[in-house]
Amino acid sequence: MGPPGAGKGTQAKFIAEKFSIPHISTGDIFRENLKKETAIGLEAKAFMDRGEYVPDDVTNRIVADRLTWPDAVGGFLLDGYPRTLDQVNFLDQVLADKDQKIDRVIELVADINTLVQRLLNRAQEQNRADDTKEVITKRLEVYLAETAPIIENYKAKNLVIQVDGLGEINTVTRRIITALEG
Ligand code: ADP
Repeated sequence: MGPPGAGKGTQAKFIAEKFSIPHISTGDIFRENLKKETAIGLEAKAFMDRGEYVPDDVTNRIVADRLTWPDAVGGFLLDGYPRTLDQVNFLDQVLADKDQKIDRVIELVADINTLVQRLLNRAQEQNRADDTKEVITKRLEVYLAETAPIIENYKAKNLVIQVDGLGEINTVTRRIITALEG
């Protein structure tokens, strides 16, 4: 977990590889659906373009489906999910039904002003429609209002490892792996 631009996607790839588990990114799934112009993709587009969250029922459905794939039986890394209280509760239920549970929650901590700059740079590199200044600001606001508070639920369960997200990509990866193995 962590604010947009904190490096969740970048780090998630390395961590998933390191532990040989699938990297499940709701943002990636929405973007793939958008590219293929599926019903889910078209539904998600308007929300993503505005920097808002896609409605919980849509997001929950795609995650529940993805977790039924055979590669997720032995574990998985969720990136960008859950982001709302409804998603937290839904995920708990889905996992309980499968006798699975969350082992750890990694929170990437980063300064908001640094993130805005990172996101603007990424906008230029990747041409992402949701990376204009206005939309970036909106995404940070939504994160602070909806997602930051739910990290407390996981803290109360002693699941959260906080990792400093600023610094070289490799350095941050090492910090995460050290924290997970510790
Ligand atoms: P970021 O972490 O930088 O916001 P993502 O690639 O994870 O970027 O997500 C891009 C967009 O996809 C989000 O702004 C949101 O509209 C949508 N999205 C991704 N994950 C979720 C989620 N769990 N719930 C609702 N919307 C989501």
